[in-house]
Amino acid sequence: MAGILEGKNILVAGVTMDSSIGFATAKVAQEQGATVLISNFGRALGITRRIAKRLPTEPAVLELDVTDPEHLARLEGLVRAELGPDAGLDGVVHSIAYGNPETLLGGKFLEGPWEDVAQAVHVSAYSLKSLATACRPLMGSGGSIVGLTFDATVAWPAYDWMGVAKSALESCSRYLARDLGPHGIRCNLVSAGPLKTLAARAIPGFEELEAMWSERSPLGWDNTDQEPTAKAVCALLSDFFPATTGEVVHVDGGFHAMGA
Ligand code: NAP
Repeated sequence: MAGILEGKNILVAGVTMDSSIGFATAKVAQEQGATVLISNFGRALGITRRIAKRLPTEPAVLELDVTDPEHLARLEGLVRAELGPDAGLDGVVHSIAYGNPETLLGGKFLEGPWEDVAQAVHVSAYSLKSLATACRPLMGSGGSIVGLTFDATVAWPAYDWMGVAKSALESCSRYLARDLGPHGIRCNLVSAGPLKTLAARAIPGFEELEAMWSERSPLGWDNTDQEPTAKAVCALLSDFFPATTGEVVHVDGGFHAMGA
């Protein structure tokens, strides 16, 4: 049986380790028939290149710092160099976030300095717009953009300024849905429960949330299993959500729907 992403070209931005949600997404996308490119930036690029070999098919690894205008400007050329001059992208995954754990997270909300907040919002929210506009020339026949959030409709212990950045990301996704919808491009987010990744480990006190999650979720929650989240991202990349945009799909064991 053909996979749900058969024949599609997908860029997954934000893969460092095999624990990255981006890695699980790249794996499921390949299993579902997609040609996948992955990206990361800076010093971790070497790790990404090694980790890429663990995917079912070793994908091309592109360098992309989503805050660097030069990287964004050359992205179209890098993608075409890999896929062919006339090829484009059918899907783009934004699996990227950063906030200084020492100044912004783990109960530091009232002290968080603006420079660090600005960086967190730039990397974690504004970059969805940057990535979308950089990839737009590659999505001439429409496509799907999917990002990852951690439910920003409420305040959480420890999450602090990253929660504010996620609010901005969720709003950014709705405005992208508005402006890119007429061009056939959908933009949606998956709101995942806590998962043991590098980004999550960097948040002091995040384990409190992890412990409570599996107790309260009606479906239970395995914080070492990235696959349910990756599958939802791939479903949104596929043709099975043709009329859905500006949406946030929860993949959290049902936690968000429980009052206590
Ligand atoms: P992860 O493996 O650490 O992935 C985050 C990625 O963002 C890393 O590859 C990181 O690269 C990259 N990144 C940081 N700054 C960047 C920049 N300027 N340009 C390009 N890439 C940059 O952690 P993850 O948990 O899978 O995170 C992926 C997404 O899921 C994030 O948006 C996160 O907030 C979201 N999410 C995570 C959870 C969770 O509990 N883990 C829950 C809900 C949502 P480096 O490693 O090189 O810094």
